[in-house]
Amino acid sequence: MSRLPVTVHLNIDGIKLKEFMEFTEFNFHPKIAAGVEAAGYVTPTPIQARAIPTVLAGRDVMGLAQTGTGKTAAFALPILQRLMGGRRGHVRTLIVVPTRELAEQIHAAISSLGQRTGLRSITVYGGVNINPQIARLKQGAEIVVACPGRLLDHISRKTIDLSRLEVLVLDEADQMFDMGFLPDIRRLLKHLPQQRQTLLFSATMPKEIRNLAKDVLRDPETVQVDLVAPAVTVSHALYPVEEACKTDLLLALLQHTDTGSVLVFTRTKHRAKRLGEKLVKIGYRAASLQGNLSQNRRQAALDGFRKGSYQILVATDIAARGIDVSQVSHVINYDMPNTTDAYIHRIGRTGRAARSGDAFTLVTNADRAMARGIERALGRTIERRFMEGFTPPTKTSVPDVTATEQATRHNRDGQSAGKRVQGVSPAGKSAPGRSKNSRRRRFSGRSAKPAAASVGR
Ligand code: AMP
Repeated sequence: MSRLPVTVHLNIDGIKLKEFMEFTEFNFHPKIAAGVEAAGYVTPTPIQARAIPTVLAGRDVMGLAQTGTGKTAAFALPILQRLMGGRRGHVRTLIVVPTRELAEQIHAAISSLGQRTGLRSITVYGGVNINPQIARLKQGAEIVVACPGRLLDHISRKTIDLSRLEVLVLDEADQMFDMGFLPDIRRLLKHLPQQRQTLLFSATMPKEIRNLAKDVLRDPETVQVDLVAPAVTVSHALYPVEEACKTDLLLALLQHTDTGSVLVFTRTKHRAKRLGEKLVKIGYRAASLQGNLSQNRRQAALDGFRKGSYQILVATDIAARGIDVSQVSHVINYDMPNTTDAYIHRIGRTGRAARSGDAFTLVTNADRAMARGIERALGRTIERRFMEGFTPPTKTSVPDVTATEQATRHNRDGQSAGKRVQGVSPAGKSAPGRSKNSRRRRFSGRSAKPAAASVGR
């Protein structure tokens, strides 16, 4: 690193926080520091600045942070540091996650950050042949990233030995609860040593997660970053529209907005599939990600989106859980999410690690109450925008537009008050102007490369 370490003290939530420190200050093992440097990380994100010293000290952590805040490295780096000491060849860390995609993503981040350490990480999840997993477990891995169902399967077959486990991470605990995994988690806990370090991460804190935390964490340090407010770098807009005009409005938005990679959310698998197909027919480089796809096709859609060969990914909430695509410039809610938490999770896919992003939500009559709920969660009103040519639902049915908020009118040339918008035409010909690479990046003052996805099973 050419820059000298600079430490600026910030006061956030009443806690004096060393925000603009550098990774060098953690004194990681040189082999871990090499991985951090290769990933392009210079400045820790707030969750990293707070959680890393606590995890290094061996404390349990209750991490309230949404995806996109850098929480993976916040737990992965101190765990790697711990594993550099002690014996190898058996499972010492277990990371439990709700989805296969998140498992692969965390595994890739660990493989990248720990590329020089010689420590081995493997993934364990259902929907794929169990035998290769058994073989990899036999070969000895220090880190297992697992989904609960298949993990319990391995436990009952006695193909995994967790008796010498040192660290347990429960990631995206609220999602695991939503997906009905809490009974599995409790069953799993009975098979783990009592003496261990436990880290629990959740974007939101429903009662059930609070109870789980009480049971699994010992004298935890709570590390909270953006509990209910989404990443500050995301700007939000609501587009009132009739249900029947949604697709046309989406197409107009894509046409008239300067976008990088776009993640579009629909309510159902069927709608994701149909919308994805429609976009492809029109000429967009698009794919859909939904639960009916085989694991291979899901991975191909995700990989294609990550690499940029697909510019648009249409997904359902479940399919998109935990997706880390650092370069998502726009999240478009084609369908309003069912809960405010789902909204926060969806838009956590853009504005990641302090890059900026936009979240557009198409709002019909029926979505009025949910729009208000989201505004309450954000603690402010969201700008309503209107596209010329798209009649919003009748006045009484449009979510309330308060006096303080400015409704911005787009015209068909894409001009809106103070906001330049440029189109991305089908077949992915990006309009000139703001490109993916020219997007603002705040934490490090230099560009932060996303971790290379080296999957070293
Ligand atoms: P996560 O919340 O762990 O999914 O991380 C979101 C994204 O931020 C990932 O692409 C990480 O590679 C990236 N990231 C994590 N920590 C940093 C950092 N300190 N500086 C720059 N990018 C980071």
